[in-house]
Order: sequence, then C-alpha cells, then structure tokens
Amino acid sequence: MTSGETADSQRVFRFAPSPNGHLHLGHAYSALLNFDLARQCGGRFLLRIEDIDTGRARNEFEAAIYEDLAWLGLEWEAPVRRQSEHFDDYARALERLDDKGLLYACDCRRSDIARAAVAKPNCPHDPDGAPLYPGTCRDKPRRGAREVLTQRGVALRLDMRKAAALAGQGLSWREFDAGDIVADPAEWGDVVLARKDTPASYHIAVVVDDALQGVTDVVRGKDLFEATSLHRLLQRLLDLPAPNYRHHGLVLDEKGEKLAKSVASTALRALRAEGWTPADVRARTGL
Ligand SMILES: [Zn+2]
Repeated sequence: MTSGETADSQRVFRFAPSPNGHLHLGHAYSALLNFDLARQCGGRFLLRIEDIDTGRARNEFEAAIYEDLAWLGLEWEAPVRRQSEHFDDYARALERLDDKGLLYACDCRRSDIARAAVAKPNCPHDPDGAPLYPGTCRDKPRRGAREVLTQRGVALRLDMRKAAALAGQGLSWREFDAGDIVADPAEWGDVVLARKDTPASYHIAVVVDDALQGVTDVVRGKDLFEATSLHRLLQRLLDLPAPNYRHHGLVLDEKGEKLAKSVASTALRALRAEGWTPADVRARTGL
C-alpha cells in the first residue's frame, strides 16, 4: 500500500522546527495546520527537533518551542525525536549512498566555488540562489565517506548525474490539490550531504527522519517546494517510502515579506506578552 492509500487513522503528520531562534507566526501556522489535519483524520501528530546544526542549536530555544506549542494548545507524542541523538541513522544512509558510488569528497572552499561561478558566464544557480557547484572535485580519486567525515574542511557531495541516472525515470510526488509533480533534482547540482561539523545535511536528515517516524504527510512551507525534488531522489536511492506533500503559503509581514526568526516582533512570546491569545494567532494566520 502506498502512502497515497493510507487509511486516515494511520496518517502521520509532523512539525519539525530548528531550535536556533524563537518560533514566530509562520511556525505557528505550520504547526497548527499539521495538528489540525492530524486531528481531522484521526491520525497522529509528531514533533521533531531539527538540531542537526549543533553549532546553532540552543537548549533554551528548544525549551521555548515546547512552551510556545503548548500555549497554542498543541499536544504531541512522546518521546520527541531530536536529530542530534540520531547521527548513526544519518551515517548509515550516507554509507548506503557511498556504497553505490554516489558520493565524492570536495575540498573546495566557499570562495573557490564563488570565484568559479563568477568566471563562468551564465553560471547556473540552484533554487535557493547559490551557484551550482562546478564539479571541480568530482573526478578525483574516491575516498570513503567515513574517512572524509573525520577531516575538517572536506564536504561529501552527491554526484547528481550518477544519482539521477540510478534513480531512473518517473520521479515525482503527490502534491495536495495539485496532483503529481515531476521532480527535477538536477536543478540542485552536486549538493553537499555532510561535512565533519554537520555530519548530515538538512536534506539527508529529513528524509531519514520522515521514513523512520513513518510520516505519511509532509506539510510544510512553500519555501521547501523545490527541495522536495531532492528529497524524492534521496528517498528513491535509499528505498524509502514516498510521503504525500502539501506546501502551504507563508505568513507574510505587513510589507509582504517572509517572516524571519531574527525579527523579534513576530515571535510568539512577544505577541503573548502583548496580550495575544491562541485564537488571535489562528485568526491572523487564516486558520
Ligand atoms: Zn570541490
């Protein structure tokens, strides 16, 4: 049975914030939407703490996440999955990709890549606006993933051409209200999947976590729509199930711009201090 046919009561939703700042209205919308959808179908609602970037994650922000979500009236299952406790899971996934010959070590510094991009007329950029990696290190002698991750300044990249060839045709996902979307992971180029100080990128961690937690419905912001192409590729390469996706609109500020964690004025705790209620949050975000 594919996830598209999952019985309603077996559907699993999740909200997965990073504890590197306080939650704002945009997070509240995503969390409430996931929670409401799970409630409506009698499914499950999970919380996951995406603290893979241990340099930026703070315990105080994690504690604040629990406090803010409880204030909103959300309930989630225990135990909460914290990415920093599951590095082994991500290492195993990387090793599987490495065994297929899909990873290579890259010593390039960010400045090298930027310089190569400037030198190349019409250099292609990824959907986030970063120049695509020019492939400088792609054909150097291979080094094992495990060894590479012990070395500072070396990144493990996915060989996108090989990966796309191995994944084959027909890579797509089911998007809520939009039917099947054709995935185009090549637009990301040879993405970094790990380095010593961040032993799993967001992309590898999220697909491994969603599979291990049995997530059937990934409901998240439109800003991650393009990343789903890459996530579908990794899922196929790792033989993981394909969840259904729903990329929701983002909560914008008065100027029509995306809310940022760095802008304290929209933080839930600031609004709470001003006297906002959870009902006010629902009304402001259109729920
Ligand atoms: Zn390189």
